Amino acid sequence: MNGEIIAVGSELLLGQIANTNAKFISQQLAGIGVNVFYHTVVGDNAERLKRAVEIAESRSNLIIFTGGLGPTKDDLTKETIANHLGVKLVHNEAALGSIEEFFRKRNVTMTPNNRKQALVFEHAEVLPNDTGMAPGMVLTKNEITYMLLPGPPSEMEPMFSNYGMKAILNRLESIDRIESRVLRFFGIGESTLEHTLEDFIDQQTNPTIAPLASDGEVTLRLTAKHPSDLERRRLLDETEAKIMERVGEFFYGYDETTIIKEMGNLIESNNMTLSVAESLTGGLFQEEVTSIAGVSKWFQGGIVSYSPEIKINVLGVNPDTVETYGVVSKECAMEMAENVRKLMDTDIGISFTGVAGPASLEGKEPGSVYIGVSFKNKPTASHFVLLPGNRETVRVRAVKTGAWYILKELR
Ligand code: ATP
Repeated sequence: MNGEIIAVGSELLLGQIANTNAKFISQQLAGIGVNVFYHTVVGDNAERLKRAVEIAESRSNLIIFTGGLGPTKDDLTKETIANHLGVKLVHNEAALGSIEEFFRKRNVTMTPNNRKQALVFEHAEVLPNDTGMAPGMVLTKNEITYMLLPGPPSEMEPMFSNYGMKAILNRLESIDRIESRVLRFFGIGESTLEHTLEDFIDQQTNPTIAPLASDGEVTLRLTAKHPSDLERRRLLDETEAKIMERVGEFFYGYDETTIIKEMGNLIESNNMTLSVAESLTGGLFQEEVTSIAGVSKWFQGGIVSYSPEIKINVLGVNPDTVETYGVVSKECAMEMAENVRKLMDTDIGISFTGVAGPASLEGKEPGSVYIGVSFKNKPTASHFVLLPGNRETVRVRAVKTGAWYILKELR
């Protein structure tokens, strides 16, 4: 099955919003082995939408549309595709009922154009909208499957995950069932990982292995096809074991986990506690950590010590250290980590000091980061990394790198 995504909406073309719907759907389709070769964005214009559909039909047999299912005049996806396919639009009673109920409950008069939202293609499979009003729909005609989804991600994502994916899986020619497993790596670049596994990735057909890199991390998605649950699991386990033999030292977790969560799990299972002193990350580490539920079991707190004065007066960094080595230094990072650990009486203290950019600081180039790691009863360590990217990515990568050092130490 070759998929194509057509996002409808002039606001996308005007650059007011990014096409995150295509990103989400592509990721989901990759997980079930459906190729996506094209993303198209088209404005709210029937003629241009029709042309985009004709092009898509010449090269894809699964066309997924997002947007333009709403009640207003510029919402024209349904009408345009219905007209193009020569299918009738009929009211879906269940959808109409829930739209009417929505207005009744809020004591608001329903305007007639809202009935339009309950129109679906005749004979289509209807995809319920659990978080909004307009239902989605799927119809296969002349061996091409057309799926229409709403524009707002808060409606589109649950609809696609809960109903759209099943509709596609039912249509996949193969009776084979598909299962994916994502392996997540840190501390190794995408090209190095790919190079290390090149022979393997090329030969491998079941499971397939698809690498993906983002924000300093690399993932490998393994997708196995087999009718038997046990056999699919066995295929995935076998391939995973071979991958781990080569790059296992960089592995940190499966599927949707994050490096911060995995670090937290290890700290908690070791009955330890953590505190942090942040300079260039300005609280980002604490923000990431405290977004995890139940974190109070292992996270004590932190200090954002941005200026040299706060490093000295609050964290107790020795003024001579700042004077001699500067704040962006191994020595300063070590004192920050050790002092915050003692101040907050935790088992682990971590610190971040560096240059987020764009300007240099103390003669150090942007992306230069020192991460101090202090474990009770162990010598304090300091790691230097030169991180690529702009101010924001440097800060994000610094946080992940710090979590990675703690994780490695606890392993
Ligand atoms: P509504 O009933 O809200 O009008 P709709 O299905 O008609 O829903 P649109 O009007 O096209 O959808 O888009 C509604 C909103 O959904 C947009 O303003 C935008 O915030 C979001 N949206 C639409 N398309 C995308 C997309 N491809 N990626 C991310 N967000 C999108």
